[in-house]
Amino acid sequence: EETLCTSFETRLGSQRLGDMSNVTVCARFRPLSSKEMRDHRDGVCVRRIDAENFVFQDDKEDEFTFSLDRTFYEDSAQAAVYEFLALPIMIDAVNAINGTIITYGQTGAGKTYSMEGPGIHDCDEHKKGLLPRVVDGMFEQIRSSNDIARYSVKLSMVEIYMEKVRDLLDLSKGNIQIKENKTQGILLSGVTEVPVSDSADALQHLCTGLANRAVGETQMNMSSSRSHCVYLFTIQQDSVKDKRVKTGKLILVDLAGSEKADKTGAEGRVLEEAKTINKSLSALGNVINALTSGSTSKANHIPYRDSKLTRILQDALGGNSRMALLCCCSPSISNASETLSTLRFGMRAKHIKASPRISEVKLAKTQEEPSSVAKDEKCGRILE
Ligand code: ADP
Ligand code: MG
Repeated sequence: EETLCTSFETRLGSQRLGDMSNVTVCARFRPLSSKEMRDHRDGVCVRRIDAENFVFQDDKEDEFTFSLDRTFYEDSAQAAVYEFLALPIMIDAVNAINGTIITYGQTGAGKTYSMEGPGIHDCDEHKKGLLPRVVDGMFEQIRSSNDIARYSVKLSMVEIYMEKVRDLLDLSKGNIQIKENKTQGILLSGVTEVPVSDSADALQHLCTGLANRAVGETQMNMSSSRSHCVYLFTIQQDSVKDKRVKTGKLILVDLAGSEKADKTGAEGRVLEEAKTINKSLSALGNVINALTSGSTSKANHIPYRDSKLTRILQDALGGNSRMALLCCCSPSISNASETLSTLRFGMRAKHIKASPRISEVKLAKTQEEPSSVAKDEKCGRILE
């Protein structure tokens, strides 16, 4: 037997809690690509006002002012994006508050660059993306924690491709099923969860997972922008003095390109992929619309089950999770209509209200000491 405690710790304070229910939405404009530079000299669609506000000008010279939590430009450092968008969520995840960080935008807009950097391994320290920074920060946070607790971190990695969930840490597993559990929320049933002991260890597994993604690419002729990549860290904290287990889930998502299928001139399989992507991203848009439409009656149906993506992100979207969204954009006038739709998506997502809380489970006296919880089956048994 167990008692689920969903009370907040006093040290968080109500102000913090209020802030946590808000989705952090940022835009990031990458530098012009050399092609954009050649084709559209000086054709930039964004004019910065200050850290939050900018004016967007489309190809018909219509102007729109956007106000987001923060906007990053071509001269913004990876570290700045991390510190504003990911660091607070990572710290809360170590303290057992779920968090989700999503990169959104058309193909080539900088989602993977922001998430991974130019390469997950062996890249310049200052070019490292959110993922390796989150990993470093998480272990640093755990090391410096004052809590007398035993921490364990597990990593899972899946790819949603053609509405199938592939386990990137074990390709032999078939389509991973998504289940829901009262205490743990949305779960990837049977997904590989590798225990990771430090950043180097985690990075190595991330590389394995990404390589598995790349194998899929060449074999099935799929480019990484045709699937959604989901990185899931489960941070478990076993209290040493009493029988309490706290768990924070930190999810990072590098979404497939949001461009319209008809624009790419795709045919056959590639068109099918594009249609599937469009369907899951429209499902995401529909969930956000339903969550922010204003009619907050209980009867208001939120169509989480319309796609694998929205089902996996169900907790993140208006549920028990903090959320941050990075809208990745090309600065070029030639991409203005896609950029405008990316920014409008971000503006809508800003209105989502979530209800994150500390996930803590109190173990019954009859159960084993949490210190023996390191193995997956045992942990599953106690938490279920
Ligand atoms: P996406 O994942 O959205 O399809 P990528 O992240 O692969 O796009 O970015 C496309 C190209 O632009 C890559 O060559 C990447 O290195 C470059 N790029 C993206 N964002 C930046 C940035 N902020 N600074 C420098 N180069 C970037
Ligand atoms: Mg990409």
